[in-house]
Amino acid sequence: PRKNLTTSNHLRHVESMAHLPSGAGRITRLNALILGEALASEEDDLVFPSEDFSSQAHVSSPQKYLEMYQRSVHDPSGFWSDIASEFYWREKWGQQVYHENFDVRKGKIKIEWFKGGITNICYNCLDRNIESGKGDKTAIYWEGNEPGLDSSMTYNQLLARVCQLANYLKDVGVHKGDAVVIYLSMLMELPIAMLACARIGAIHSVVFAGFSAESLAQRIIDCRPKVVITCNAVRRGSKIIYLKEIVDSALLESAQKGIVTDVCLTYENDSAMKKEMTKWTKGRDIWWQDVILKYPVTCDVEWVDAEDPLFLLYTSGSTGKPKGVLHTTGGYMVYTATTFKYAFDYKPTDIYWCTADCGWITGHSYVTYGPLLNGATVVVFEGAPNYPDVGRCWDIVDKYKVSIFYTAPTLVRSLMREGDEHVSRYSRKSLRVLGSVGEPINPSAWRWFFNVIGDARCPISDTWWQTETGGFMITPLPGAWTQKPGSATFPFFGVQPVIVDEKGVEIEGECSGYLCVKRSWPGAFRTLHGDHERYETTYFSAFPGYYFSGDGCSRDKDGYYWLTGRVDDVINVSGHRIGTAEVESALVSHPQCAEAAVVGVEHEVKGQGIYAFVTLVEGVSCSDDLRKSLVMVVRNQIGAFAAPDKIHWAPGLPKTRSGKIMRRILRKIASRQLDELGDTSTLADPTVVDQLIALADR
Ligand code: ATP
Ligand code: MG
Repeated sequence: PRKNLTTSNHLRHVESMAHLPSGAGRITRLNALILGEALASEEDDLVFPSEDFSSQAHVSSPQKYLEMYQRSVHDPSGFWSDIASEFYWREKWGQQVYHENFDVRKGKIKIEWFKGGITNICYNCLDRNIESGKGDKTAIYWEGNEPGLDSSMTYNQLLARVCQLANYLKDVGVHKGDAVVIYLSMLMELPIAMLACARIGAIHSVVFAGFSAESLAQRIIDCRPKVVITCNAVRRGSKIIYLKEIVDSALLESAQKGIVTDVCLTYENDSAMKKEMTKWTKGRDIWWQDVILKYPVTCDVEWVDAEDPLFLLYTSGSTGKPKGVLHTTGGYMVYTATTFKYAFDYKPTDIYWCTADCGWITGHSYVTYGPLLNGATVVVFEGAPNYPDVGRCWDIVDKYKVSIFYTAPTLVRSLMREGDEHVSRYSRKSLRVLGSVGEPINPSAWRWFFNVIGDARCPISDTWWQTETGGFMITPLPGAWTQKPGSATFPFFGVQPVIVDEKGVEIEGECSGYLCVKRSWPGAFRTLHGDHERYETTYFSAFPGYYFSGDGCSRDKDGYYWLTGRVDDVINVSGHRIGTAEVESALVSHPQCAEAAVVGVEHEVKGQGIYAFVTLVEGVSCSDDLRKSLVMVVRNQIGAFAAPDKIHWAPGLPKTRSGKIMRRILRKIASRQLDELGDTSTLADPTVVDQLIALADR
């Protein structure tokens, strides 16, 4: 049993919310804004779930949440083993459901869940669902880059395809515990390859197929795969990307460093490039279509321990050199399935689409494993959201009758910039729940997502989590309670977030500080590949006794959590600590500002000054008046102390390939330390950096 459990502030608040009348009709800030009234602050902006939604939700009220949450933290063993029992285990876990040491002062950091339990996640995704009658249900709808190019696959068909590849991998000598690198775009073959590895106990490491040969080589050298799986080329928007050539140079580079990969299994993606045009290394390169179809469509499962590794995934690298995050099987399985079910209020009739690529954790947990463990129908989209035009997403939503749509704030903001008419010409009637992940979503983007995309009908799950956490940590449960635009609301079951000060002392009530977690949860990562010491120093040493997320956070008077960005992004202006997210939100609420990124720069008087990069809405041009009115918005919304000292016009912002703003590069540009830009290999478009430098003094 867990000792010293304090009833944290959020619980008291949820308790008091239980007495609030729920349902439509109440004046919310949203309504107030529409009616032209202004409310005091963001914290008072409430969006109530409709009664219709709440009454059908898995968690239908604050009381219900509270009951489940209390049990999850007072009796984690009971709570999680009840859920785990819904999955197939060849052998049940040992007496102890979990074991943890979260405190570096007490020795090595160690987390284990369901140790001794024998299972297989691929079996639980496919065979188990087929046995319960879902064999003919559609598992995947695949939508190609070109409108009109599509296909679909039932659970039965998916299992057959997975087994064929699994048999092949075994045949070329991939054993339990061996690594396989997957460098594929969003073809059906990508989730198939992940599941095939899981089926035979191999560890997959998906590398986003937009990374350079150098980044890919780095990862190959780090995890030494037996096989690399790729395709010859891919279409993305109007471009063709020759993946196989990138793999060729990466394999050359890694071989020069002594890491030789025996097999490069290459899928012929003939909509982008014909076989004959592809450069070939005899003996190493194998065409997928030449070999896989010859293999049997059944394949025995390799039963693994709950603590055997499932995959290795590198973080997106927005704060520096990517870290090889290792997840194991059992806890990850239980956690992704449960978070998916509750945070999206998943029902068997839903059609679910997550726009993330499987090259990121979101694509692992919420394109592949979480949904398939629930027997869901998933849309996998190969293309770009603005091709052939910016209405593509809603075209896809209408085509497949998507009911749950999960995306990133960067996409919401970029579509917002294009105007409502590209949205309103589609029906979007099927939508029920919306989701956001990757960065804090500014309240103004939240409102646009809610009002325009969701027709003020669909709750938004703003899910805060990380590659390291495996699944959602702080997230709304749609229908359960009142939302506040821009707040990720309350912790998921079993998660005990705490906010600490610089000394690592827990702060109660309304406060802001460093976001930590007090106890382990099943989906937590277990180590950094090959570097347990870096794992301990990066995450567990800053505030001994806690897992430190690296993010800043505040908790308001009602107990809601507000993520304020990375702590190394907090700016200290004349003693005021200001989160970059706050200033950015204020800027983006200006009707002519499409996107903003704020960093701190040295300032003689104030210590730090605020330096803002601003991208304008399509068709608007920069001017001194606009500059003044942007500064005004910040002064009005936050206060004079937060007014930007400099507005730097930015045609684009440097983003990681997962769409996050890379502030460390902006900091260097802002302070004109141009020879210290650091590792830019994970940037989506490195030319943005040169453009920004060129515009620096305008
Ligand atoms: P690296 O760790 O290499 O710097 P990264 O942190 O960008 O890369 P991810 O694990 O993909 O890699 O991202 C997790 C981070 O994304 C979180 O720590 C947080 O800063 C941000 N984030 C994700 N979801 C949200 C959200 N809903 N609200 C606010 N921030 C979010
Ligand atoms: Mg991170």
